[in-house]
Amino acid sequence: MDIKIIQEKCVGCVICKQKCPFGAITLIEKRHPLQEGLRAKEALRLAVIDIQKCTFCGICVNECPFGAIEMEKGEEKGMDISLYKGVWVIGEQKRGEIERITYELIGKAIKLARKRGVETAVVLLGDNIKTLADELLYYGVDRVYVCSAPSLKDFLPEPYSKVLIHLIEKEKPEIILAGSTTQGRALLSRIAVNLHTGLTADCTGLEIDENTGNLAQTRPAFGGSVMATIITPKHRPQMATVRPRVFKIPERGKEKKGKIVEVDTGGLDLSSRTKLLKFVRDITTEVKLEDADIIVSGGRGLKGPENFKLIFELAKVLNAGVGASRVAVDEGWIPYSHQVGQTGKTVAPKVYIAAGISGAIQHLAGMQTSDIIVAINKDPDAPIFKIADYGIVADLFDVIPYLTKKFQELLNA
Ligand SMILES: Cc1cc2nc3c(=O)[nH]c(=O)nc-3n(C[C@H](O)[C@H](O)[C@H](O)COP(=O)(O)OP(=O)(O)OC[C@H]3O[C@@H](n4cnc5c(N)ncnc54)[C@H](O)[C@@H]3O)c2cc1C
Repeated sequence: MDIKIIQEKCVGCVICKQKCPFGAITLIEKRHPLQEGLRAKEALRLAVIDIQKCTFCGICVNECPFGAIEMEKGEEKGMDISLYKGVWVIGEQKRGEIERITYELIGKAIKLARKRGVETAVVLLGDNIKTLADELLYYGVDRVYVCSAPSLKDFLPEPYSKVLIHLIEKEKPEIILAGSTTQGRALLSRIAVNLHTGLTADCTGLEIDENTGNLAQTRPAFGGSVMATIITPKHRPQMATVRPRVFKIPERGKEKKGKIVEVDTGGLDLSSRTKLLKFVRDITTEVKLEDADIIVSGGRGLKGPENFKLIFELAKVLNAGVGASRVAVDEGWIPYSHQVGQTGKTVAPKVYIAAGISGAIQHLAGMQTSDIIVAINKDPDAPIFKIADYGIVADLFDVIPYLTKKFQELLNA
């Protein structure tokens, strides 16, 4: 694809700059070729397109009243999508344990595959992971591709994506799912670019058209104000990352089904320009946010970093994880790993306590599927009360220490 400004026609009117949703157009002071006689201060402004930001959406082409922007769409290479079959999950394991998201994705992958009448597979990479792979066979998948090598022991994007690209090109699955985790996000973007196919990140819903096989990938868009459903009708595989806790884990079967397929990585260059120096455990919290049954979250209402200790104290008594709104994270009161919401983590605990959080749509996107929501806010009109099961209209500086004390008394009783 190519897009260009025809300098002779551009009058520097700013319309294209205003209409571009991606901020890809700027105006620069530049002499017009037909106006060479002008002094510098009379030089005209010209639109310039930043190709790194341009998505070739064509809005500027349609909006320019002077026909000064031209876009050429290259010939799309045809792809025989009928060659692609099966639904795959890119499994995640860390230090001998399968990550919860893998099971969540298996449950959904099996449902999608059944509708299409195709097989489900998990791909697991690591070193000495045969036992982990075996465990996955209790969850109803047809195959587990095991890629085992010392250089795959810890997750590194380069060798992991090389192995996956090799396997995908060989086996041609029609759908690939991974978690919206650091690993899933790093891998699927690399794979999508290499295989020239689409990728929808951070999905919160997946459905399939049984006839066409098109995967309807739903995710929040425009700051969470709309839900967009995206399809990839002309390319395969269709790839999506899915937020943790969106899908339920299927029940573990009593017997293993399916088979292990060992992938030969012999001919592949598994070197990496990056290496893992050491693993440092996050010590800011004892309970992992994604796995917590109870979460206590704080927002701007805490007024400063020192007051997060109130949230940590309550969380400790409840054996809960600690969450935060983006404002609290942006202010530097607590690390990003605690952020809940559209650009943070999606959580669905049994109890979510939101203290001093207004309930902006982007925060709700990350916690609204919690079983019970308790909101503490001194503003009775705060939007968080619309989704709260229990609302406490009060000052959090009174309520949180009171709750900590009461729960501690109950535990001691
Ligand atoms: C693209 C995009 C992505 C975003 N992603 C996220 C995200 O992932 N997560 C997220 O959280 N936000 C996100 N945001 C930001 C979001 O829009 C809000 O700005 C943010 O959630 C507000 O944080 P808050 O509720 O802590 O602060 P505020 O909205 O300022 O609310 C503070 C609340 O505290 C209450 N309060 C004040 N003092 C007290 C007190 N003493 N006792 C009790 N209550 C008190 C106030 O009444 C108020 O309701 C995103 C925004 C955009 C544009």
